[in-house]
Amino acid sequence: MSLVVQKFGGSSVADAKKIFNVAGRIVDAYNEGNDVVVVVSAMGDTTDDLIAKAKEINEKPSRREMDVLLSTGEQITISLLAMALEKMGYPVISLTGWQVPMITDSNNSKARLRTIKTARIMSELDKKKIVIVAGFQGVNELNDITTLGRGGSDTTAVALAAALKADVCEIYTDVDGVYTADPRKVKNAQKLNDISYDEMLELASLGANVLHNRSVELAKKYNVNMEVKSSFEKVDGTKVKEVRLVEKMLVRGVAKDDDVARISVIGIPDEPGKAYRVFDLLAKKNISVDIILQSIGRDNTKDISFTVCMDQLEDAVNIITENLDLLGAKEVKSRSDISKVSIVGAGMASNPGVAAKMFEALFDAQINIHMISTSEIKVSVLINEKNADRAVEVIHDKFFC
Ligand code: ASP
Ligand code: MG
Repeated sequence: MSLVVQKFGGSSVADAKKIFNVAGRIVDAYNEGNDVVVVVSAMGDTTDDLIAKAKEINEKPSRREMDVLLSTGEQITISLLAMALEKMGYPVISLTGWQVPMITDSNNSKARLRTIKTARIMSELDKKKIVIVAGFQGVNELNDITTLGRGGSDTTAVALAAALKADVCEIYTDVDGVYTADPRKVKNAQKLNDISYDEMLELASLGANVLHNRSVELAKKYNVNMEVKSSFEKVDGTKVKEVRLVEKMLVRGVAKDDDVARISVIGIPDEPGKAYRVFDLLAKKNISVDIILQSIGRDNTKDISFTVCMDQLEDAVNIITENLDLLGAKEVKSRSDISKVSIVGAGMASNPGVAAKMFEALFDAQINIHMISTSEIKVSVLINEKNADRAVEVIHDKFFC
């Protein structure tokens, strides 16, 4: 007998029929004699709809009240799914984040889990109940409701799997695994049987849109065996785990991220300490910077460009603009119609041909590169957003066809 954590995303529980389909998958695991803990997201577009409702009332609602609102989405799903299982004659109980409790810090809308008290869940499992937990939500030390950030239900599932020492954490979604590119967009995308945490982490944070990146970070930290599977088809998925047989496949996937904006600080004096000042200002505002490029100084000035995610663009531009004098810079420019396209695979650093091949694919398609960054396991380029889907396709073709 094993303890299995299963997580079902919003598209898998979007309506009554799908909820019964999910109930069927849960029952399969339960009937095999497993203890089953289930995490669910809000149904379909519920979270987006709730955000739209909030905006009708208040353009800038407080994050605390947003969390009170958004957490209701998952509460609907846990109760309906429990009712479906009741109807099918199975013992079941639903729990919200605070009922577990899943304790987080107080950073509303981006809260991090601190501790999970497992006693309640364990006692329900002892009673042979299927336990259904609301994803994406928790409670801080003041008993205020918090949420973990968009896509956070994956993180709930992995955290529960770690806390309960589950044998596996199955993430069910509308694709049946992790692919070499988004299979909804690239028709020759191939499913991977397994992938390492590090590779998955890059693909998750680069916008492959399968798993929430914090869930993969947690899985790596606590060595949780994850598997990405289809909610609808009973086929093998992709295992995310530590050691993987070294297949001689250098590039594991191509990912695209549209959620990027570029900021350029123009005409900074070419002297020590300027980069420090720019990034110190950003760090103090908690703005995460990704790709950084500094031009070669000429006429005693230089430009520093960097990328941030879209929802930090305004703050970043403001803080730099307010400090133009301090920096001695001429102006700040920004653009948001850009995307980051990346190839990911362990062992890339020792193989310079890989980057060349990627750039060749872009050249053949006459796609211009604005910025490049490389690491141990990835090469990323910044390009115009309108070219991004085609870039993914031509790069994917180059490596996989
Ligand atoms: N319902 C939340 C969202 O749409 C959390 C999740 O689905 O994981 O972002
Ligand atoms: Mg998701």
